[in-house]
Amino acid sequence: SDAVLEVRNLDVDYGLGDEAVQAVKDVNLTLHRGEVLGLAGESGSGKSTLAYGLTRLLPPPGVIAGGEVIYHAENGETADIMRMTDAELRKFRWAETAIVFQGAMNSLNPVHKISTQMTDVIKAHDPESTPRSRLDRAKEMLSLVGISADRLEAYPHQLSGGMRQRVMIGMALALDPRVVIMDEPTTALDVVIQRQILGQIIELRERLGFSVLFITHDLSLLVEFSDRIAIMYGGRIVEEAPAAEIYRDSLHPYSDGLLHSFPALRGPRRELTGIPGSPPDLRAMPTGCAFHPRCPKAFDPCATNLPVLGIPETHTGQQRTVACWLHPIH
Ligand code: ATP
Ligand code: MG
Repeated sequence: SDAVLEVRNLDVDYGLGDEAVQAVKDVNLTLHRGEVLGLAGESGSGKSTLAYGLTRLLPPPGVIAGGEVIYHAENGETADIMRMTDAELRKFRWAETAIVFQGAMNSLNPVHKISTQMTDVIKAHDPESTPRSRLDRAKEMLSLVGISADRLEAYPHQLSGGMRQRVMIGMALALDPRVVIMDEPTTALDVVIQRQILGQIIELRERLGFSVLFITHDLSLLVEFSDRIAIMYGGRIVEEAPAAEIYRDSLHPYSDGLLHSFPALRGPRRELTGIPGSPPDLRAMPTGCAFHPRCPKAFDPCATNLPVLGIPETHTGQQRTVACWLHPIH
């Protein structure tokens, strides 16, 4: 297959025993070679927990409660990230994945120049490299993300938020990763800059050939920039489909709600209705479909039975799945 990462039945909890809350539940997700997979959902839906979980960077009290994350290496070998030793994991992280986490732009060290920080990262990754080659690489990566080489001598406070974010992305890409995971790298930035950065990433993806898992609650960005979109609610994936399909014909009422939270990108104006109510409390999850208390289309089974994610009968043969009683699955 052309899978790079396969998340299978992943469960992530915060806390242990009676104290445990399930933040990610039975998630199945495949990141294919060269694609941009968008992950959307309201605040608290479990997006970051999933990203930290699948890279095993989950801070305590987070624990992987079950599942596998299969990584397909370039040479065809596969490994379950959840079962790697610490040494294997370190090697894997440096060599294969780059992660730009939420608020990453604030993690630049204020007392060091950009050049020092970038070349340090490259050196840690490739100790054999020469100072000269590291500096060249840093320059090259900055220019890839649209920052001129003279900014290498700047300190973080001398750069705008958008530039700092691009430095972080450049740093991540300097390691030539196969998988780039970006968790809302643009939240704090204005919309124009968000678009710019995402546009650049897509262009780089084509040139450098990495796969991207892009996480945001801004579905409009994903519709525009990703190949496929997965929607999370209450720790579960509730719908997954090619971006154009979700935009044109979303099946889950929650996806509908998210899509009606921003103005139409093209075509006729859509009514901006948003979603009534608020996301569920993990400590008091609704029975059945977690979305049912907020769902305008809820009916008999929804309050009591959990819908399973599967290919809808009406869309067999298509690469899309949904977990909703309105759509019997194949
Ligand atoms: P956002 O869009 O705000 O970034 P998210 O989709 O990334 O939200 P997560 O941060 O993954 O959501 O949180 C998922 C759930 O796990 C939330 O209900 C959150 O309260 C809970 N959670 C997150 N971190 C912890 C923690 N350290 N301890 C306990 N619960 C946590
Ligand atoms: Mg998050």
